Amino acid sequence: METLIAKVDGENPYNDKDVLDKAADIIKNGGLVAFPTETVYGLGGNALDPDSARRIYAAKGRPSDNPLIVHISDISELKPLVKDISPKAHMLMDAFWPGPLTLVFDKNDIVPDETTGGLDTVAVRFPENKTAIAFIKACGVPVAAPSANISGKPSPTRASHVAFDMDGRIDMIIDGGSCEFGLESTIVDTTGGDCCLLRPGSITKEMLEETVGSISVDKAVVSALREGEKPKAPGMKYTHYSPKADITIVRGALDKVKRYIAQKASEDSENGFKTGIIATVQTENGYKGHTVLVIGDRTHPETIAANLFKMLRKCDHLGLDKVYVEYFDEEEHGLGMAIMNRLKKAAGYNIVEL
Ligand code: AMP
Ligand code: MG
Repeated sequence: METLIAKVDGENPYNDKDVLDKAADIIKNGGLVAFPTETVYGLGGNALDPDSARRIYAAKGRPSDNPLIVHISDISELKPLVKDISPKAHMLMDAFWPGPLTLVFDKNDIVPDETTGGLDTVAVRFPENKTAIAFIKACGVPVAAPSANISGKPSPTRASHVAFDMDGRIDMIIDGGSCEFGLESTIVDTTGGDCCLLRPGSITKEMLEETVGSISVDKAVVSALREGEKPKAPGMKYTHYSPKADITIVRGALDKVKRYIAQKASEDSENGFKTGIIATVQTENGYKGHTVLVIGDRTHPETIAANLFKMLRKCDHLGLDKVYVEYFDEEEHGLGMAIMNRLKKAAGYNIVEL
């Protein structure tokens, strides 16, 4: 299959209406189109068509018990998809939609089991990226879209990342530039009336709690699960976001962390390993002579979130065998929780405590 790649002006997507119409035709005919959102690039198909859902799983190499998020372009499109919208769900929608928040509801029959990985619930998001909204509107149906990467690889935050993973596997990629937040959406389960955080993201736990009061956090968000334990968001159980290199997270006082990493990286290099260090603008100078990937600024965690997947992909491009990452403060709050959730998975929970 040849994959068409077409640019859209992210500020004024309707200037490229021919591209949107072409993409919408593909979706209406059961094909697959990758498109930008404010979080990461999504791999879209008709959410109401079981065959489209099957094609998404096949293109990603994703296990079919890992449900897809359904994207809508207006709040009015939610009602036909779900049984009930709880008062707290309404409050969250009022506060954060459109935006990087996915809500889980009990599903209606119109949503096929293939889209929800066999679950009775459906995850829905109304994104705020202008290209995403214009594309979904043109489709005229809700668009099921997981992240547009090969399963297990870091999520794509640029069209070039999507092309690297998906060229020849999907019909089209809409290139709308780089994604603003760079981490996948926050997921909150709203079934049963109360709220439970299933995946942390740019909408933080504090932001959610300001709107609906105290919320619970699924165990899979902060720690590795034991054999047999099941996360509420099925996707959280898979090794995710992984470059080929062995990743080690080093936690402790920053000075000690820097000394430890510099020493370990030197030893590994002497032993013939291609070694890299993921550092910040505050610490990069401590690693002279090493391959350093600067992920962002510790005083502006949003820069770290936005660059995280790009850096993990870069580890592969550089052919690194071993990568050391400095720890970021997670403290169960703020963006740190979302950043560390992704990093811990990338590292297979390999953390050195100093
Ligand atoms: P991705 O689309 O790659 O960002 O992954 C979608 C995430 O949403 C996965 O972690 C899924 O497990 C989660 N998800 C999708 N639908 C549901 C649902 N009905 N209930 C809980 N989690 C869901
Ligand atoms: Mg994903």
